[in-house]
Amino acid sequence: MDLLPPEKLTTMKLKSILFLMILGPLMTLAQHKSVQAGRAWIAKEGPNIIGEFNRLLSIPNHASDSMNIRKNAGLLVEIFNKRGFSMQLLEYPGSPPVVYGERIVPGATRTLCFYVHYDGQPADPSGWTNNPFKPVLYDKAMFLGGKQIPLPKPGDPVSEEWRIYARSASDDKAPIISLMAAMDGLKNAGIDYTSNIKLFFDGEEESSSPHVSAILKKYKHLFEDVTAWMLVDGPVFQTGAPTLKFGGRGVTSMELTVFGPIRPLHSGHYGNYAPVPGQMLASLLHSMKDEQGNVLIEGFYDSVEPVSAFELEQLKRVPSIEETVKKDLALGWTEGSGQTLFQRLLLPSLTIQGLSSGNVGSLARNVIPATATANLGLRLVKGNDPEKMLDLLEAHIKKQGWHIVYGEPDRETRMKYPKVIRVDRDPDGFPAAKVPMDHPAILPIIEEVRSFTGDRLVLLPSEGGSNNIFSVIFDELKKPGISVNIVNHDNNQHAEDENVRIGNLWYGVDLMSVLFTLPKPAISGKRKR
Ligand SMILES: [Zn+2]
Repeated sequence: MDLLPPEKLTTMKLKSILFLMILGPLMTLAQHKSVQAGRAWIAKEGPNIIGEFNRLLSIPNHASDSMNIRKNAGLLVEIFNKRGFSMQLLEYPGSPPVVYGERIVPGATRTLCFYVHYDGQPADPSGWTNNPFKPVLYDKAMFLGGKQIPLPKPGDPVSEEWRIYARSASDDKAPIISLMAAMDGLKNAGIDYTSNIKLFFDGEEESSSPHVSAILKKYKHLFEDVTAWMLVDGPVFQTGAPTLKFGGRGVTSMELTVFGPIRPLHSGHYGNYAPVPGQMLASLLHSMKDEQGNVLIEGFYDSVEPVSAFELEQLKRVPSIEETVKKDLALGWTEGSGQTLFQRLLLPSLTIQGLSSGNVGSLARNVIPATATANLGLRLVKGNDPEKMLDLLEAHIKKQGWHIVYGEPDRETRMKYPKVIRVDRDPDGFPAAKVPMDHPAILPIIEEVRSFTGDRLVLLPSEGGSNNIFSVIFDELKKPGISVNIVNHDNNQHAEDENVRIGNLWYGVDLMSVLFTLPKPAISGKRKR
């Protein structure tokens, strides 16, 4: 659209510009037959879809609550059985079941497996405005002054700005309902799937999916024919723009404890004489990073795999959110000499996640504390090995003259070495996982999604967070996959008053409808049994 000086903008031009602005996105939607089918279904069945969602949200879903977790699993089996999927529970000792479903489409040469988790974070009702497992509907977000409204009755209009408040409304039961409604919409319109569809509903993601790798090994035969995994978990871009992500960062951590006197000392009697552990730890931490936030540990950035030209190109198209983020978080400066948030997410990070020595505030006392402790978190990118990164950190500490111990040091060790530090390494770190954006199984999916979202689609090489599932699928199963996000970013996930915006639930239906009906691959691959 040309940008004309205001005096050249005739009423007519203004009208046609407004027409395009309003109808532009809708026209793209309308052109997509599957999306149209979903939207028609929503228009007719919106209140019933919300009703079904409420049924699912009413069942508590912490992974350790085995009775309720099985109730959730049972309802999932029921929902997708009804929609032509053959369902089974993939059992593994000590784990909630994975709810698995498949629908084989005659002649299909591609198999998409949708990953969603049906468990949720613990929910302490005392912090919530309403009971986390009695879903309630609001006419808009609470933080915008929304008011509770009754559930719509069949035939009632449904607003996209409404929000449902309940644990797992966004994380991660919303995708289950979007999948369900997309299936119904396509069936109603007589549109067939173009790929085989598999469903993988994890029951312990919020507990880090400790058994997912073992379950995938045990039931390997069910996943061998998967062409690509669609991971439906997490929010869309901060601006609300549709988003696909191609991996996540790895994670590990290390706790450091520095020792001073063997017991806390009177700071008047010994101050200026006895070493102060807080001071010593501060000086060590200071050596790890420069004023711009660059990590000074030798080799810290050496193993980072470079980002491809294609990915750099996509990154350039990511809308700038720097000013909004800085304003939102009241940041007077950011690390990385002006690099954008998403550029920074492509590098490993080192964060002091916790610091402790003695007491502050009303508990402050006149003492030299005996110890000082810091917890350091590392987020990793493709190429970083968690163990090797921790080795680099230890090498740096030694270089600063510290004697490292891996448990409580005895009196003899403390007297022999002037600088004694205890190191506790995270035994459960895992590496980053990332699929190249131009992977042949993924490119057609991007193109098709873009055909309905238009240029608003944001492609992010990696999300900032870490999800073990990525590494299991990419590195262990050797399958490509992408993170397909649908929910609003301001959904309070993991916190009290978690919610989902109805418009995002409907966007999820659009997206699932598109994914169920991707154009058939041009060159047909090997026929799958
Ligand atoms: Zn989640």
